[in-house]
Amino acid sequence: MSNKALQSVSSLKGIGGETEKTLADMGILTLHDLVMTFPYRHEDFRLKNIAETPHNERVTVEGRVESEPSVLFLGKNKSRLQIRLLVGPHLIKVVFFNQAYLKNKIVSGQTITVTGKWDRGRQAISVSHYSAGPKTDNVDFEPMYSLKGSLHQKTFRKFMHQALQEVESDLQELLPYNIRHSYKLLPVQEALQGVHFPKDADHVKQARRRFVYEELLLFQLKMQAIKKVRKEQNKGIAIAYDIHKIKDLIATLPYELTAAQKRVVNEICKDLKEPHRMNRLLQGDVGSGKTVVAAIALYAVITAGFQGALMAPTEILAEQHAESLHDWLSPMGIRIAVLTGSTKTKARRTLHEQLQNGEIDLLIGTHALIQPDVEFRKLGLVITDEQHRFGVEQRRVLRDKGMSPDVLFMTATPIPRTLAITAFGEMDVSIIDEMPAGRKEIETHWVKKELFDQIIKRMVVELKAGNQAYVICPLIEESEKLDVQNAVDVYEQLSSIFHQQFNVGLMHGRLHSTEKDEVMRAFSEGQIQVLVSTTVVEVGVNVPNATFIVIYDAERFGLAQLHQLRGRVGRGSEQSYCILLADPKSEDGKERMLSMTETNDGFKLAEKDLELRGAGDFFGRKQSGVPEFKMADLVHDYRALETARQDAEKFLASDEFWTSEETKYLRTYLEQSGALNGERID
Ligand code: ADP
Ligand code: MG
Repeated sequence: MSNKALQSVSSLKGIGGETEKTLADMGILTLHDLVMTFPYRHEDFRLKNIAETPHNERVTVEGRVESEPSVLFLGKNKSRLQIRLLVGPHLIKVVFFNQAYLKNKIVSGQTITVTGKWDRGRQAISVSHYSAGPKTDNVDFEPMYSLKGSLHQKTFRKFMHQALQEVESDLQELLPYNIRHSYKLLPVQEALQGVHFPKDADHVKQARRRFVYEELLLFQLKMQAIKKVRKEQNKGIAIAYDIHKIKDLIATLPYELTAAQKRVVNEICKDLKEPHRMNRLLQGDVGSGKTVVAAIALYAVITAGFQGALMAPTEILAEQHAESLHDWLSPMGIRIAVLTGSTKTKARRTLHEQLQNGEIDLLIGTHALIQPDVEFRKLGLVITDEQHRFGVEQRRVLRDKGMSPDVLFMTATPIPRTLAITAFGEMDVSIIDEMPAGRKEIETHWVKKELFDQIIKRMVVELKAGNQAYVICPLIEESEKLDVQNAVDVYEQLSSIFHQQFNVGLMHGRLHSTEKDEVMRAFSEGQIQVLVSTTVVEVGVNVPNATFIVIYDAERFGLAQLHQLRGRVGRGSEQSYCILLADPKSEDGKERMLSMTETNDGFKLAEKDLELRGAGDFFGRKQSGVPEFKMADLVHDYRALETARQDAEKFLASDEFWTSEETKYLRTYLEQSGALNGERID
């Protein structure tokens, strides 16, 4: 970067002391930092036709004052000043809050310009910007920055103006000419003008378009460079599995694999064979059959003389996995052990020894599996189920445990493509996009609580037919603040309703894991017919005989979670039902309920969820790996993202990219980002 751009902001007129500190607080140290600070939006000051302005929208109008201002004092420093304004043919009210001093400035007959929120019902504007006279100034769009301290927009714009003049002549153009030309993107100078001092609406739009593309291109370049470097580094293990043994295992399974399962098994095996480290995400909707794919992959690794590990987010799930894998793999002579938080010290010690001397082939467990004292003799593959619950740090610890084991992340939260290629942009992705044959769509109904008796009647029909039911409640204890159903209450209520006829079980996070186990086992063996539970059953639990699920206060859940919960039923061949008890107050809430009744497709719901909640909240956590972009919005800019992804791919594969003068700055960016070392550091 040029010297000018790297100059401190204190070289500008009016910046020093307090202001300099405030700017530093905002992460602005140099002139370059300053000009790359983008507004969160642009205020539109163009004159609008008031008759066509929707209620509550901001609008700028020019008109003739038709009445002397009248002022109402509302207490200390509070006042309300009102005038009548003739805007074209419309006579409207204009209200100023706490600007009583205008009483002597505004006179009847004068022309003024005001901006503010339009109250259509009251035919009134509540003013946020005012200027005497007709709208003369050339400013149609004004950027609004998120500022700290006592910094004002106007002052900040002055600094911006100076800074741009200083650095404009030697700004680096990151985007090669060809790209700019073919997408008609503004050069960096014009784009920066468009962001900070736009001429008109189109200027703003074009500026934004350029920076959205630039931001996404840089990100994709980084992600794909990481992927490429990792593959080239050959730092992983080439696993020489025994294909015949794998085929034998598949032949013993109780069902034929779906075409999608076969495809992903192939993708995974191909990766295992390569000498690079596998870093793959396996996505598949709830019930699509990921567990058996995991079992095959782990078995493959074991046939090559390595050990495998399977990590689940909860003990229940770990134990259930252990059971399934035991059924499939023990007949093949595989030695499996389970390690969770509740494994006793003595058993744990034996287990550690057996792991180290290779007497255990496969370890299944929870987080307990990545404690420092757990050492493998020859770890070849680590699979984590529902990986978005594991932090970045844990992934690293896990990887470091063996000789760069291959890593497979499984998730049943269908991740919209835009998020998948950003949050997991450095990974390969396999998708199971097909359900096992014979599955019926789950019938979903959104009902009010008043219909509870009818729901119970319907549930009884299922129970009498020998099926089972879940009843999901959000919290275990009464909370004054949240009007949520108490799981214990529901349990007692249902127990008394079903008295003697059916057995009701209770499951929640406060139970000891042994108690949870007992309940879960009783449910999966059919001794309990109705399981009342908090969301601890949310992920993964598999009881194919369950055909009925009631979800209390469904409006409190996000779509992804509702879909997960619903996925507890419909896992066998019988028709299943999902009842959403909800009384959503918000439009979003209503839309979520409708979406649930309309589709069983997890990917469609995920897209909807993303749209309703935005990328940041999608995983419900900050460290999810979804980067925060300055300009780009993953929901709206998905086309640009796809374009950027393809371009990044082409770039990295071409010799020209690595040598040409045009792409010099992009290469510098990659070097500085650390991507060329193959590690992702956000
Ligand atoms: P998930 O992808 O949600 O983890 P599971 O692996 O738990 O799904 O599988 C859901 C159910 O489907 C299980 O009962 C499993 O045995 C069954 N299943 C998996 N694959 C097939 C298949 N190819 N044909 C029939 N049933 C299958
Ligand atoms: Mg699963």
